[in-house]
Amino acid sequence: MVILFAEKSKPADIAKAKKILEKAGVNFILQKSGKNGAFVFPASLSQKKIEEIKKLVKVEEIFLNEKQPFLSSLRYIEKRKKIKILNWKWEEDLLFFAAGPCAIENEKVLETIAKTAKKCGAKILRGGSFKPRTSPYSFQGLGEKGLKIHRKICDKFELFMMSEVLDRSDLPLVSSYSDIIQIGSRNMQNFPLLKAAGKLKKPVLLKRNFGSTREEFLLAAEYILSEGNDKVILCERGVRGFNPAAKNVFDPASLQKLKEETWLPVVVDPSHSAGDFRYVGTIAKSAIVAGADGLMIEVHPEPQKAFSDSQQALTLSDFEKLVAELKKICQAVEKRIE
Ligand code: PEP
Ligand code: MN
Repeated sequence: MVILFAEKSKPADIAKAKKILEKAGVNFILQKSGKNGAFVFPASLSQKKIEEIKKLVKVEEIFLNEKQPFLSSLRYIEKRKKIKILNWKWEEDLLFFAAGPCAIENEKVLETIAKTAKKCGAKILRGGSFKPRTSPYSFQGLGEKGLKIHRKICDKFELFMMSEVLDRSDLPLVSSYSDIIQIGSRNMQNFPLLKAAGKLKKPVLLKRNFGSTREEFLLAAEYILSEGNDKVILCERGVRGFNPAAKNVFDPASLQKLKEETWLPVVVDPSHSAGDFRYVGTIAKSAIVAGADGLMIEVHPEPQKAFSDSQQALTLSDFEKLVAELKKICQAVEKRIE
């Protein structure tokens, strides 16, 4: 249930309403939109309590359709907000540009990648130390050792660190190192993890599950938002489709639709969509044209030796070539890569 209070509600009245709500054991979140203050409750309230609240504060609307994305919606939050990543105010025309290996392997490999990523204008160095692998026999990531290497290289090259968290219990550890928390496709509906990420003050990059609808994707983001963290970045990485050339289908129209529906930034991961290095460029280019707010690309100095996703990583020189092309496309759509 979501209750939208009237525009001119007095802060003192809101404070009284807050008390009643907290007494009723509901999570109270004040979300300021363009015109209104919206209060969000993940639990339903009895009619009696609603009447009590209505007496205190003028209620504009009560939304009982809990399947409707609310905090992520441009319908209620009128303006696109700027997400701050540490001291970096991410301007709208600047692409959120992340590059890096699939998994953190060792310092030497990461340093080589970071050097090229930095030179090409990437702001974020991605790489997992906790890897969600289809098979339990595949490389699972270096754990904390990987986080340490990742942090060190990010500091050296002044890049933001983005690392994936698989389990709620790992969140304190990963967030003690990483500037941006990645929640992967397989965990998009891990609700306890989403709620815990909602308690963080850090940006969270949430990847769309390969079998989910846009509505499910937005509602997953809503879990993070409704806990008070509004630094959510959505990431389209393709969904399963029929007879695709790429492993997962990236739909540019779906990206456009998301951008019509939500104020949250939407970045695209062409690597996991393509699943094959030959198609990464095509998807990356179409994503920029379709209005993506950023890109995340897997790079490796020797892809054939990569511990994971070796078939989709770009070599350093292919990555440099692609970035030169992406920069030209950016000009046409008034975006930029630094
Ligand atoms: C990743 O980014 O390394 C990853 C595992 O991606 P996804 O969750 O989209 O499969
Ligand atoms: Mn990967």
